Amino acid sequence: MNAPVKPSKLIKGATGDWEMVIGLEVHAQVTSHSKLFSGASTEFGGEPNAHVSLVDAAMPGMLPVINEECVKQAVRTGLGLNAKINLRSVFDRKNYFYPDLPQGYQISQYKSPIVGEGEVVIELAGGESATVGIERLHLEQDAGKSLHDQSPSLSFVDLNRSGVALMEIVSKPDIRSSEQAKAYVTKLRSILRYLGTCDGDMEKGSLRADVNVSVRKPGGPLGTRCEIKNMNSISFIGDAIEYEARRQIEILEDGGAIDQETRLYDPNKGETRSMRSKEEAHDYRYFPDPDLLPLEFSEAYVAALKEHLPELPDQKKARFIAEFGLSSYDASVLVAERESADFFETVLAGLANKSRDGKLAANWVINELFGRLNKEGRDITGSPVSAIQLAAIVDLIGEGTISGKIAKDLFEIVWQEGGDPRALVEARGMKQVTDLGAIEKVVDDIIAANPDKVAQAQTKPALMGWFVGQVMKSSGGKANPQAVNDLLKAKLGI
Ligand code: ADP
Ligand code: MG
Repeated sequence: MNAPVKPSKLIKGATGDWEMVIGLEVHAQVTSHSKLFSGASTEFGGEPNAHVSLVDAAMPGMLPVINEECVKQAVRTGLGLNAKINLRSVFDRKNYFYPDLPQGYQISQYKSPIVGEGEVVIELAGGESATVGIERLHLEQDAGKSLHDQSPSLSFVDLNRSGVALMEIVSKPDIRSSEQAKAYVTKLRSILRYLGTCDGDMEKGSLRADVNVSVRKPGGPLGTRCEIKNMNSISFIGDAIEYEARRQIEILEDGGAIDQETRLYDPNKGETRSMRSKEEAHDYRYFPDPDLLPLEFSEAYVAALKEHLPELPDQKKARFIAEFGLSSYDASVLVAERESADFFETVLAGLANKSRDGKLAANWVINELFGRLNKEGRDITGSPVSAIQLAAIVDLIGEGTISGKIAKDLFEIVWQEGGDPRALVEARGMKQVTDLGAIEKVVDDIIAANPDKVAQAQTKPALMGWFVGQVMKSSGGKANPQAVNDLLKAKLGI
């Protein structure tokens, strides 16, 4: 079991330490071809109002019909969050007026959501992990979009998004730092992507978060929260929390009180500013939507969906640790994104001896490949070295054909020029020399050419390193390092 989230960082104020308390409401667009209650397409980027059915435009007399695919996606997500699936849930109308909301209400779930309590394990610095509680997940409709930049005197409304299914995933106020909040969104997004229930594309708005922040004296009662709306970048979420917590501390230390309000983050200024206060908050007059029956399904329905869930990041991580002896940190790095995990799995599948070289393969993916990709600002899907090529490089090291050092040169050649690693090693004479006679010859030459160093080495065994370096150099890095060490030790008598 993972530890509950600990306060990892307290903020020093004039009156002592403060602790941040954070809870997130994440809106995740459901991956589905059509909308929650209509057959219109959910495709991104169509001409304005190209994907609008009569239901989405709220024509009089139109009736919503639930899209079963969206229900399945919500249940699958709930299962991926280790959450309670509610076999009966209710759709409510959340009433408010807005030009991009033609119905005059949003169909959402209020008292009886489709998914109840669950949890997300987040990865913290140094390979540690912690658990953040999930309060609920409910299904709701997205609204349309008002366009104010098309004309100097008119506003337009695009209803393409109107009625698209969203999952609102509400966390408990378990998060204690901006780092943890970022780790939470990162992990949640990763789980959604593994499940294929949301593409997690924050730039397109498929995943956005309302961030609730309050501060308190460590261990004290919960403070009044402010909610920062509609954040669509993980790093801005971190920045907004840092700013907001300090703003609240300053007010409290000046003897003031926090107004519960909705705020917006301005990334250009690095500040949050008030959008509306609690007094201006809407009374949504929720009531069950009379157009829709309660949503009911059986245990068997849930069990069938559960059976077909893919392996999720936590399970994959545990398997990599158990099968290959990876560290918790390395395993986390590999599973963090579905694409990197898939890449590593393909490398594994390509290895001649998976149990012998699995860990070596992990090191190569993490250190050489990811390191190089990061340096060039590329991601794994655009890697010049394929998983099959990397598997071949690891095979060559594992079987002793090339040394780790030569493998780095080989990796560089494959990165730059492509090609079959095994054929390259043959063609360019990169094979490791394990022929003891050949190595001995080099060792003898070096010893003969450096009598002064040989004498010194008797009293200063650290000079061994110098000899090893010389032998490796004169063998073009191809001498088997173990053999070089053994021979030198014997010949130098140290
Ligand atoms: P609302 O819709 O009114 O914002 P929700 O229950 O949907 O209410 O969401 C409340 C969110 O605020 C949850 O994520 C919860 O964890 C968080 N939260 C509740 N109390 C606090 C608090 N004192 N400080 C920080 N976050 C809080
Ligand atoms: Mg809210």
